Amino acid sequence: MDLKNSKPRRVAFYTVGCRLNQAETAVLTDRFRCLGFQPVKFGEMTDVLVVNTCSVTEGAETDCRRVVRQVLRKSPNAFVAITGCYAQTGAEALESIGGIDLVLGTQYKMQLPNYLAALSSTDKRVQPELLHTRKIDHENFTIEGTGDYATTRANLKLQDGCQFMCSFCLIPFARGRERSRRADDAVREAYALAERGHRELVLTGVNLGQYRDAGVDLLTLLQRLESIPGIDRIRISSIEPTTIPDRLLDYMAASNKLCRFLHVPLQSGDDKILKAMNRRYTVREYAEFIEQANRKIPGLCIGTDVMVGFPGEGEQQFANTQSIINALPVSYLHVFSFSNRPGTAATKLPNPVPPHIIKQRSQELAKLSQRKRFAFYQQYVGQSVAVLFESRHAAGLWTGFTDQYIKVGVQSSDDLSNEIREVTISGVTDGLALAHLSAGMSQSDELLQARPLLMTSESV
Ligand code: SF4
Repeated sequence: MDLKNSKPRRVAFYTVGCRLNQAETAVLTDRFRCLGFQPVKFGEMTDVLVVNTCSVTEGAETDCRRVVRQVLRKSPNAFVAITGCYAQTGAEALESIGGIDLVLGTQYKMQLPNYLAALSSTDKRVQPELLHTRKIDHENFTIEGTGDYATTRANLKLQDGCQFMCSFCLIPFARGRERSRRADDAVREAYALAERGHRELVLTGVNLGQYRDAGVDLLTLLQRLESIPGIDRIRISSIEPTTIPDRLLDYMAASNKLCRFLHVPLQSGDDKILKAMNRRYTVREYAEFIEQANRKIPGLCIGTDVMVGFPGEGEQQFANTQSIINALPVSYLHVFSFSNRPGTAATKLPNPVPPHIIKQRSQELAKLSQRKRFAFYQQYVGQSVAVLFESRHAAGLWTGFTDQYIKVGVQSSDDLSNEIREVTISGVTDGLALAHLSAGMSQSDELLQARPLLMTSESV
């Protein structure tokens, strides 16, 4: 395709994986737009496809093949660029997938729009071009552009990389050593996001608690972000348990803008497994932290990640995990199945857990998570809470979240999009708290009786 004769060039994105990948795709979208491309929805005809991959699970390669085939059926001449964690860790495997034109490792990911804009032609390649280095810069960084989001919540990337070297995790290889975004640059993007009407910022990073830029730590940066007009809520996404200082908890307890929300990965409730995972805490230390956070911050929502099927996880170890989660004030779990990732230390460990046991344990923890979430939501029945509304569903139900990430549904003919409203919770069903606007006009009690709602809360 000759770029000079085919403007505007359309670009579609397919993003797999974590919130950080979503944040990066959002900034890439903005950069492409600024450079004269027209972003289109995935599934529409396109001239360029960008796949932002993940390598956390074994399915990354299969997923890539499927997406590339799917897009090329509809847009046979689309130029296909693959980036993200799997482009870093599985570049050779990707090179062999037919239809791919460009593979960009982590070092080059955010330069993709400039690179494509500078090409005189995005004709399909016979052989994919590979832009990849094993070494990834770990200096502090800036990000050109502002995330492009359709939602009221916008991710703000503050940090990348990790060197904790948990034995199951490929991220240190996929994203490199830890590094922090320049504080001024993060604040600049936050102002731009506020100007675009985003009222909630979700701070993201691989290991957010390690944020440091020339004497600015996460708490200091948070205080700067809180002062931005138009930003009503700031949410910290997943953060490692050993990286949260007491003063951050105190600040969360006192702040009107910092959401009462912590997602703190546990991974296992057994000390032997935690040690083999190379995690940096014992079960007791984790439990003491969670109890302290819960004491300091009334109404705090605590989520956690748990991994099942790590090598050596017998019945007793799994029972220990269930037991500590039952005992702690955890509000929900994200359950991950151990997946043997070549290149990680865990691949060498003995006593693998059979897949059918992993599946069974995963299902058990998923049920435990449902019970925990239900119990957390249930405490608020009859109470008034503030909800930032996001979207209206086909059934006419507006949904949004409280600062504690309780998903709330309200039947209303008002346009509640991007509005913060007081509601009274009247019941709980399937990961959703049903409520009515505190001014009245509720049909939500009827809804609670009348139909099962199959919405689930999304992850932070
Ligand atoms: S803390 Fe552990 S699990 Fe999290 S990104 Fe770093 S190495 Fe991976």
